[in-house]
Amino acid sequence: MNKFERAELDHQLEKAFTFHGKPCGGTVIGVRMAMLGLKLIGITDPKGTQRKDIMAVAENDRCSIDAIQHVTGCKVAARALKLKDYGKVAATFVNLKTGKAVRIVCPEETRQIVEKYKPAEGEKKDRTIAGYKNIPLNELFYAQEVSVAFDEDDMPGHAKSRIKCSRCGEWVSDHRERDVNGETLCTTCVEGGYYKVVKDRIPL
Ligand SMILES: [Zn+2]
Ligand SMILES: [Zn+2]
Repeated sequence: MNKFERAELDHQLEKAFTFHGKPCGGTVIGVRMAMLGLKLIGITDPKGTQRKDIMAVAENDRCSIDAIQHVTGCKVAARALKLKDYGKVAATFVNLKTGKAVRIVCPEETRQIVEKYKPAEGEKKDRTIAGYKNIPLNELFYAQEVSVAFDEDDMPGHAKSRIKCSRCGEWVSDHRERDVNGETLCTTCVEGGYYKVVKDRIPL
C-alpha cells in the first residue's frame, strides 16, 4: 500500500467507524473489501456519477455490512445492497453498467495470518484494527470473478406489482406472493412466517 492508498483507507475508516458506532476489526475488513471490490469492477465515483451503477451483496449481517454500505453508498432501502445471510465473511460487488462482478472472501486462515501484522504492544482491539489495516490484500482476501443474475423483481426502481393476499388481506409487492392451488397468498400465509398473532387489531 502506498501512502496515498493508506491515506484513503484511513479516511474511509474514520467515516465508517462513525457510521458503525465504534471502531472494530470487522469494519476494517468490510472497508477494505468494499474498496477492493469497487476497484476491481471499475467504480471510481460510487457516490457521484456512478451511484446507480453498483449493487453489492453481503453474505452476513454483522459489522462488515455497515462498512460496505458506507464505502459503496449502496443501501438496502434502495435495493442496491442485498443481504444473503450465508454466515460468511464475503461479499459481491456488481457493476450494473458493464456486468462485471467480483466476489471477495476473507478466508478463515486470515485469522492466523493477521497475527504477524499486529503490533506487539497495545490494547487487544487496537492491535486487531492495526493488524487488519496492515495485512496485504492478497493475504486478507481471495477474489473470484462471478456472474450474477438478479431477477427483475429484485432490481432498484418502483415496485413491479402489488397484489392482495386472499387469506390475510395484506398487500404484497414485487411478485413476492405465492400461487397455491389457485389461491394468491403471501409468504406468511404459506410458510407460517416469523411471528404468530397473539391478539389482532390491538387498540392504538
Ligand atoms: Zn463492529
Ligand atoms: Zn396472507
